[in-house]
Amino acid sequence: MEKLLRNFFLFLSKNRALTKLAKRYGLRFGAARFVAGESIKQAVNVIKELNNKGLVVTIDYLGEFVDNEKEANEMADHCVLAVEAIGRERINSQLSLKMTSMGLDLSEEIVMKNMKKILEAAKKNDVFVTIDMEDYSRCGKTIEIFKKLKSEYDNLGTVIQAYLYRTEKDMEELNQYSPNLRLVKGAYKESPEVAFPIKKDVDDNFKKIIKMHLLNGNYTAVATHDDEMIEYTKQLVEEHNIPFDQFEFQMLYGIREERQLELYKEGYKMRVYVPYGTDWYGYFMRRLAERPANIAFVVKGVVSK
Ligand code: FAD
Repeated sequence: MEKLLRNFFLFLSKNRALTKLAKRYGLRFGAARFVAGESIKQAVNVIKELNNKGLVVTIDYLGEFVDNEKEANEMADHCVLAVEAIGRERINSQLSLKMTSMGLDLSEEIVMKNMKKILEAAKKNDVFVTIDMEDYSRCGKTIEIFKKLKSEYDNLGTVIQAYLYRTEKDMEELNQYSPNLRLVKGAYKESPEVAFPIKKDVDDNFKKIIKMHLLNGNYTAVATHDDEMIEYTKQLVEEHNIPFDQFEFQMLYGIREERQLELYKEGYKMRVYVPYGTDWYGYFMRRLAERPANIAFVVKGVVSK
């Protein structure tokens, strides 16, 4: 049943007509639990509240189905505005973005132009930028773009997904860049030809890459809501005397908020991924797919309208 619901929500997340419709009607159906608002102003207020509690942030301007240069340029302009707001408001936040939003499916030239514009603004405002990882078909291209930009910009990191077979090799190759990487299990529906189909194998590989990246001396963001992975990281760090400024935990806005605060109070750096924007529908559907128990929020959202 859970698998069925997961596939159903992933299917809904890819629906262009519903994505467009949702944009017109504003945050609905409990989506505000996972999305910090539609404007940068609302997002800044949420970040200030999180910062006041001791949590740091990475902000993400939501955008789905970017398939022309004008839209890709607009997405990049929103990212620049976000970076400038971080600098102006003196909030503790990084920026996360997706290569498809910058025009990955259009041309590398468009992506590079948009990324350089954002990275220049980010450098001026002392903001770190993370390239999120999307589905397998974009993984290779994303890593190649990351490598090219990383040689020019120090304030850049990316994401590695534990469910992919290629991941260990990617990490070995990336090691020469001493990259700041966010490690995740992986959120997309992938074929068993490219990704571990069994959860236990994904979890084992997740632990393996956490260890590999930390022991290589690289900055590691362990992005998970899974206590088993969090406890594994804590033990590893203790065993190997890894300094607390070489790693952090990350979770999504609206998920396990008490656990986020607990980790902060235990002395760990805890970063919250805060999405905002009018294009909330696809992100919201992916969160429901991850944990169908979250449907309770949708029901409440509908009832309270
Ligand atoms: P799961 O295997 O989903 O959950 C394991 C356990 O965690 C559950 O059994 C439960 O005990 C606990 N748990 C999970 N959710 C909850 C909840 N809501 N309430 C209470 N307990 C819960 N994926 C990508 O593919 N690319 C990216 O760029 C990317 N960036 C991310 C950034 C951040 C900050 C985070 C946190 C995730 C990101 N992801 C990304 C998503 C990631 O790949 C996983 O799909 C997602 O985090 C779910 O996996 P999990 O590790 O949290 O554990």
